[in-house]
Amino acid sequence: MFLKGKRALITGSTSGIGLAVARSLRSEGAEVVLSGFGEPAVIAGLCAELDAIHVPGDLSQRAGVEALMAGAGDVDILVNNAGMQHVSPIESFPVEKWDQVIALNLTAAFDTCRLAIPYMKRAGWGRIIQVASAHSLTASPFKAAYVAAKHGLAGLTKTIALELARDNITANCISPGYVWTPLVENQIPDTMAARGMTREQVIEDVMLVRQPTRQFVQPSDLGAMALFLCSDAAAQINGANMSMDGGWTAE
Ligand code: NAD
Repeated sequence: MFLKGKRALITGSTSGIGLAVARSLRSEGAEVVLSGFGEPAVIAGLCAELDAIHVPGDLSQRAGVEALMAGAGDVDILVNNAGMQHVSPIESFPVEKWDQVIALNLTAAFDTCRLAIPYMKRAGWGRIIQVASAHSLTASPFKAAYVAAKHGLAGLTKTIALELARDNITANCISPGYVWTPLVENQIPDTMAARGMTREQVIEDVMLVRQPTRQFVQPSDLGAMALFLCSDAAAQINGANMSMDGGWTAE
């Protein structure tokens, strides 16, 4: 229970990767703050399971991020995980989708970090973990906003890592390839339309073809990595981008 006494905020933790990270951190005793959308009964069930609180807020709006940080209180561990995707050719990319993807996947992380860091500095310890993506290191067609936001998130993280290197606070990215979550499932119809493919072709020839292992990453794998980054053994991992993509970005 090496995280007993530590408080962890995981954004977008009502589903997918964020929920798996919350479960991992809780398993080592962290007090967990959940965020994200969902059915009230489902969220209440997660709060009971994890002995957690849930703070609502739309993180694509600065006011929502500020409300989340006020409700979460002082956090020792900040996991910026909330994210969204939009798939479209660049010339018809809806401008409001561009704004939303950049706001949620990049600007919200800037805001949570700037608001969380003063307490971490006072406490003399902190861990910032960004759930980035293989798309923070490489691009794919039709994902202009997402690729731009994730590359930006990787740059933001390296900058924070350098600024806080003497404060016992680390900042790192975890960059998964394709993880089977609602975010991935929901982009299949638009990808089918953008590429003129069947569902099976999208899964095999667009998604798994990128991963030399030909397997999806599991949300629990991401949880285990987040837990490791919070451990003392990871104290010198700072400003890193930890790929978990079956070899995608090695190619
Ligand atoms: P998901 O759709 O299962 O979960 C997203 C979470 O974010 C949910 O809890 C949702 O309620 C929350 N959320 C969405 N919009 C929000 C908003 N405006 N305000 C507050 N919360 C909001 O997605 P996931 O696959 O678990 O993705 C989590 C992170 O992992 C994202 O940043 C995503 O880019 C990244 N990622 C996912 C994959 C993948 O293959 N699934 C791959 C690489 C990176």
